[in-house]
Amino acid sequence: MPADRRAVLKGLAAGAAVAAVGASGTADARVRKTAPADAVGMLYDSSLCIGCKACVVACREANDKPPDTRLSGGLWDMPDDLNGQTKNVIKLYEDPGSAERSYVKAQCMHCVDPACVGACMIGALQKREHGIVTYDPFYCSGCRYCQMACPFEIPKFEWSKLAPKIVKCELCNHRIAKGQIPGCCEVCPRHAVIYGKRDELLAEAKRRIAENPRKYKGYRKGDPPRVYGETEGGGTQVFYLSHVPFEKLGLPDLSAEPVPEVAQTVQHGIYQGAVAPVALYAVLGAVILRNRKKEKEAGRKGGSTPGGEA
Ligand code: SF4
Ligand code: SF4
Ligand code: SF4
Repeated sequence: MPADRRAVLKGLAAGAAVAAVGASGTADARVRKTAPADAVGMLYDSSLCIGCKACVVACREANDKPPDTRLSGGLWDMPDDLNGQTKNVIKLYEDPGSAERSYVKAQCMHCVDPACVGACMIGALQKREHGIVTYDPFYCSGCRYCQMACPFEIPKFEWSKLAPKIVKCELCNHRIAKGQIPGCCEVCPRHAVIYGKRDELLAEAKRRIAENPRKYKGYRKGDPPRVYGETEGGGTQVFYLSHVPFEKLGLPDLSAEPVPEVAQTVQHGIYQGAVAPVALYAVLGAVILRNRKKEKEAGRKGGSTPGGEA
């Protein structure tokens, strides 16, 4: 048996064992997770962003993703949202009834306790060094549970490819490993998005609020100013400051409870025995191996079609 296949099956067996323990009730207590001491992240301040989209272009270059020209009839890069070839997007919020407007950047939030990692039973999504949530396409079965789990609707799927994979920001971990900073942070002419250690970014965000409390807003109109991501969904490693309420920017209203904790409660209610999760792992294992085979066949036939979708 090839070594890579052995590794997948070994992982599945380990996962099934974990599921069995969880379902039997001996591993019920789930410790609330905190960010690692060396956690890094980004701080995006919408009040500084001018919507130039240099960060979108830099993200493509850093991640070898082609421009999304579908909306412009093939003329220029114009993604309307994150998709199978876009890991970072800038959107415009505008209230026609007032002068209120703002740009907002979207990419993976690198949650402290990521729902996508919890949902990925094969381990294709993992929280790794510096707390960065990474994705390994080799292990991906294409089940898309991560898409369903993520409260920020970040993971996207390459629908138009023969062997589709998940696409999401990995905080340019390949650049960080070389001592560089994320592409989007490197090019932003306004420093609207900056990279750094999580605790330092949080302190910087709070400093800006303290310096200018009337400029920044909370989740809803009238709420006191705050840093989005400090607690939402158990906390994230990407923070937002905004001069319009966060709800207007489409950011979800999340409690401080991590999504995986909520999911675990539901799972325990559903699976009173270990049978269902073990059967699920077996099915997913078969799907992985089938997809690997299809991928090889697609490679022999000359690859995949261009483009991608949510
Ligand atoms: S934002 Fe979504 S994809 Fe990113 S780490 Fe959190 S749960 Fe995972
Ligand atoms: S960190 Fe890298 S992958 Fe993530 S949005 Fe910025 S440029 Fe794109
Ligand atoms: S490069 Fe900076 S200013 Fe330009 S759209 Fe991106 S975050 Fe905003």
